[in-house]
Amino acid sequence: MDAPAPVRNTEEPWTTTRLLRWMHEHFERQRIDAPRVCAEMLLARALGCDRMRLYMDPQRPASAEERALLRDFVRRVVAHEPVQFVVGEAWFFGRPFRVSPATLIPRPATERLVEEAITHLRAVHGASDGASEPSRVLDLCTGTGCIAISLLRTKGFSVAITASDFAPDALDLARENARRHGVEERLTLLQGDLYAALSPNHSKFHLIASNPPYVADSEWDDLEPNVRLHEPPLALRGGADGLDLVRRVVTEAPAYLEPGGLLLVEIGHAQRDAALDIAAETQGLTQAEVLPDHEGFNRVLRARAAVS
Ligand code: GLN
Repeated sequence: MDAPAPVRNTEEPWTTTRLLRWMHEHFERQRIDAPRVCAEMLLARALGCDRMRLYMDPQRPASAEERALLRDFVRRVVAHEPVQFVVGEAWFFGRPFRVSPATLIPRPATERLVEEAITHLRAVHGASDGASEPSRVLDLCTGTGCIAISLLRTKGFSVAITASDFAPDALDLARENARRHGVEERLTLLQGDLYAALSPNHSKFHLIASNPPYVADSEWDDLEPNVRLHEPPLALRGGADGLDLVRRVVTEAPAYLEPGGLLLVEIGHAQRDAALDIAAETQGLTQAEVLPDHEGFNRVLRARAAVS
């Protein structure tokens, strides 16, 4: 116990514990967000296991190939590439989704919108005794498909979802995620500019959900570099006030909603009043409200289609 610590053998193996500690400290020094989680995600990917597994085998030595892979991952993260792009995956609503620079990385704030959607769909289901056909849902700007797929995987109601995106490569990703979660036969994916993706005689929807781009031009330079330099501007930027797409999603919604149908649109924290104004000026929408996300930020515009 009292003997002087032996000189560290440079051949000391790079075990899981040692690699995690090294990355954690390195990321902290480089001011990378969530340094520990980041280290765990990268190591789990390099070793081809899940994060829990790391703690079950802390003394496992990494091979030279694994360490080379990890070094590349670490370099990319230090250069502000989002860790989700490096590992190709992000978790949303308790499930893993494949991600790529084709579209936005799913954010925890968007889970708030999913929860609201679930509450509404359960109510619709209950009101119809559960015996009727599936509720029709439209997801505009679906991106990875995370909103649509989370709803399709939720129990307690039955839905058929039409999801659209402007970016064909985002739709490929959504298709891959739908397949991964076994819901592709209930998800129709359409390319197009918001509602223009739909055929003219499409049935109306019980729910329209959307997380459109909404970052205002004035906010762009202040975004974190991992967002601004790596996620696609097409999925983020909403013009001068950020509301170019939100405005179109909201004002055109009544034409596509069943009477009493619900509209849920994600917005930015500073857009609460402007979004409520847009809803108030839209004929056929009532009960507009803005709900906070889990961090207390204004996040989801909710409104109903008038019943008559
Ligand atoms: N909340 C995201 C951000 O500020 C933007 C999401 C979006 O545009 N839909 O990074």
